[in-house]
Amino acid sequence: MQSGGVGEYSFHGIPIAEGICHGKAFIYRHEDEQTPIRQIALEDLPQEIEKFEMARIATRAEILGIQRKIASAIGAKDASIFEAHLLVVEDHTLVDEVLKTLERELKNVEHVFDRVVERYCRTLHDIGDPFLRERVADIEDVRRRMLRHMLGKFHLHKLDEISKGSYIVIAHSLSPADTVLLYTKAVLGCATEVGSRNSHTAIIIRSLNIPSIFGIIGICSRVRTGDEILLDGYRGSLIHNPAVETLDHYGKLANQKEAVEERLESIRNTLSITRDGFHIILSANIGLLAEVEDVHKNGAEGVGLYRTEFLFLNRSIPPSEEEQYQNYRLVAQRTKPYGVIIRTVDAGGDKTVESLHPEKEQNPSLGCRAIRFCLQHPNFFKKQLRAILRAAVETNIRLLYPMISGITELRRANALLKESQTELQEEGIPFQQNLEVGIMIEVPSAALTAHTLAEEVDFFSIGTNDLIQYTVAVDRVNEQIAHLYDPTHPALIRLIQMVVEAAHARGIWIGLCGEIASDIRLTPLLLGLGLDELSVGTSLIPRIKKAVQSLDMGTCISLAKASVQAHSSAAILEKCLSIAKFHYSELLA
Ligand code: PEP
Ligand code: MG
Repeated sequence: MQSGGVGEYSFHGIPIAEGICHGKAFIYRHEDEQTPIRQIALEDLPQEIEKFEMARIATRAEILGIQRKIASAIGAKDASIFEAHLLVVEDHTLVDEVLKTLERELKNVEHVFDRVVERYCRTLHDIGDPFLRERVADIEDVRRRMLRHMLGKFHLHKLDEISKGSYIVIAHSLSPADTVLLYTKAVLGCATEVGSRNSHTAIIIRSLNIPSIFGIIGICSRVRTGDEILLDGYRGSLIHNPAVETLDHYGKLANQKEAVEERLESIRNTLSITRDGFHIILSANIGLLAEVEDVHKNGAEGVGLYRTEFLFLNRSIPPSEEEQYQNYRLVAQRTKPYGVIIRTVDAGGDKTVESLHPEKEQNPSLGCRAIRFCLQHPNFFKKQLRAILRAAVETNIRLLYPMISGITELRRANALLKESQTELQEEGIPFQQNLEVGIMIEVPSAALTAHTLAEEVDFFSIGTNDLIQYTVAVDRVNEQIAHLYDPTHPALIRLIQMVVEAAHARGIWIGLCGEIASDIRLTPLLLGLGLDELSVGTSLIPRIKKAVQSLDMGTCISLAKASVQAHSSAAILEKCLSIAKFHYSELLA
């Protein structure tokens, strides 16, 4: 965190999604969220005390206002209940203790206040006197009001209540479900205190093109709803109260970035073919029907990964077969003349789908996720399979199972697919008889048995987001170990090479839809490894296409050969970077 010009303050975090936005902050808190805690500098003390005093004044005014309303509506006697609340706000012992603890511990005032109040409530509760117990409820009420004022929550708690398009959302953390809501609210940008680049939340945020930063420690208590902020998703900077010169500087930067994007516009209708004539299919990853428009806008050759679990988020009842059918059919129709690879539900892990009631697990990434969940709930799974089979009539749809770990799982999934076909046949409902079926290769056991798996599928799609997580044993959502989440780990590169060889030996095609496909530094390596397709977030299509068009396959193959032999991730990355810089340095800036 650094200070800038007069009144301006800069915070820094992990850049998650590119873009610059300027607007009002909206502090979003989950109702059950903990009050943030952070150390403060001695010179910040007056500011914290002032925040506390202002919150007391505002809370007092709020309670008096409620009292007045109640008095005029139902009488002064009932309004007097709030006297007890006022007494809490005025309680000198409590106020003194907050101020003393603040000076002694140098922690943010919300945390100090919360702790002091909690101690108070516990003591009153433990005395066991019914009258004093009643007071605990009054104190709790005041506590909530005070915290709301100190944290700037005002009356807007839920994302649902946010007005469309006008805010930059600031939160402790955001779930994939929150993110979908943010998209529907057309928010300008997001910043959070925690979160990692490889989480599903980050992936969907990038895919939806919402400029964002994660990992800004203490941001929720440093900025208040309504404050003016500027967010730079390229560098991961959030500027509170930006000065005119700063706005000017960022205005120019945004124009420059736009100019680069406009130049890329010209290649929209071209194909991703290397200089020496190799065509690699470049398709798009999507999670929502609404994104299909961007597939065409950015010049992708279809949808390489449709993450259907997003259809199941933010609702209490899962979508019916009919609703799923309509959705898949629309996606496929709108993607024409290209095709869509529909991945069956990958719920679990960091994507909690409430309507599916997954049990809370100790270790969700290794738990009942994706195909495992579906195989344990065959009726649920068959609904989705039936919907896909039906939607694939007269459209170009392929089916993809996530997180297959071995042949037995694949066969069980295919048996349910067969059952669904038989049922549809008996019911006289039209469906696609020759649906192509593929699997994600994202678990090391699948990569290591790819030769066997290739015998029974039509295609592979490598999911490096999980393949890295499971190969290097690094939780993709844990930012503490994000430095170990290594896309050029020699083990990963060798696994990719093995899987590509296994696919081609069997004559099936193979794509890659993990985030490394969007990493422009690695494009030469992925081409050289022999992948037939890369599937990336829609907004990144033009850049990757330009990179492919700047490369020649001979160089890429030599790079891949050297990388497979390399001993360290740094050596591989260095080789990739030198080729990328030589061929398209302007895209790396
Ligand atoms: C992957 O694991 O690389 C992938 C594309 O799937 P997801 O990110 O949805 O887990
Ligand atoms: Mg995955």
